[in-house]
Amino acid sequence: MPRPIRALVSRAAISHNLSIARTHAPSAKVWAVVKANAYGHGIERVLPALSAADGIALLDLSEAQRVRACACQLPILLLEGFFEPSDLAIVDELQLTPAIHCWQQVQWLERAQLRHPLDVYLKINTGMNRLGFAVHEAKAAYQRLRSVARVRDITCMTHFANADGIDGTQQAIATFRSGVDGLPGARSLSNSAAVLLHPDAQSDWIRPGIMLYGASPSERQTARSFGLVPAMTLASEVIAVQDIAAGQGVGYGGRFKAPRPMRIGVVACGYADGYPRIAADGCPVLVGGIVAPLAGRVSMDMLTVDITHIEHAAIGTPVELWGEHVSVDEVAASANTSGYELLCALAARVPVIEVA
Ligand SMILES: *Cc1c(COP(=O)(O)O)cnc(C)c1O
Repeated sequence: MPRPIRALVSRAAISHNLSIARTHAPSAKVWAVVKANAYGHGIERVLPALSAADGIALLDLSEAQRVRACACQLPILLLEGFFEPSDLAIVDELQLTPAIHCWQQVQWLERAQLRHPLDVYLKINTGMNRLGFAVHEAKAAYQRLRSVARVRDITCMTHFANADGIDGTQQAIATFRSGVDGLPGARSLSNSAAVLLHPDAQSDWIRPGIMLYGASPSERQTARSFGLVPAMTLASEVIAVQDIAAGQGVGYGGRFKAPRPMRIGVVACGYADGYPRIAADGCPVLVGGIVAPLAGRVSMDMLTVDITHIEHAAIGTPVELWGEHVSVDEVAASANTSGYELLCALAARVPVIEVA
């Protein structure tokens, strides 16, 4: 028998979350972002739930190939474009839509022999200072792309550095407009945080990612408050129970010391499954439907929880590490990280099961 740990992925939740994105931007088209193997959920698994999207956005050419292998004919946006000239043959063959963020990419494009018309996204840097042309270069970059014979539609895009923070998007939107005003074509601005928190940022194409999977893009607002439903449940079982005396330690280094006699449940889930090793004592874990606080350092294959108050807990009792009752964002907060990181880090050894 395999260990009892498994991840359950709900396509219905993903379709529902996509509809929430549409509610916030009724007139926009939607790029459903599936980079990083659909934020850990599995590209092939989530595609059927995204059939109502207008396009699929990702980074990796191999992920684009996987999408096309599923017979998905939607447009595919390459969020970082291509990485070397030879990539352009695949871009052409699979008819992908690359983001163009630097002059080197423009030059590679000018020298490429393309067989099909190519739509491109012109990426403008509005303060993230990661990828994109400076605002003062936008018009020149546009003109050079315009004069590449095979280039068809040019959409201007930017990516917000602070859509989830107090600084917001206003400054970035003003910067973007100052660079691209007057240029023809569509615009694409919003990630999940902007879709949910900054309706003023509306554009022709939105690019929601994390919200599709039912986690929050904001530390200050829960996914539930946006009406999102978690797409992934990480589930396991209790595999051992220990009765310990006051003063005894639990796990490596004895980080947790029992303040009184306690029952400790041992759960088949560790950092080699993607559970964060640095999750703090007290991090919520659902055992038999009741919240049990994490007690002791997470180890590679197991973690330990205080189940003193859960009388019915025993070997085989079901455990939810994250999902409907304990949000991945709560676990992330206990580990000083974000739900994004935990979802993407689900380990390959965890079997994934599709649920309705
Ligand atoms: C990842 C990404 C998104 C989606 O971001 P979320 O915060 O997950 O919604 C949108 N646009 C770009 C350019 C990205 O890289």
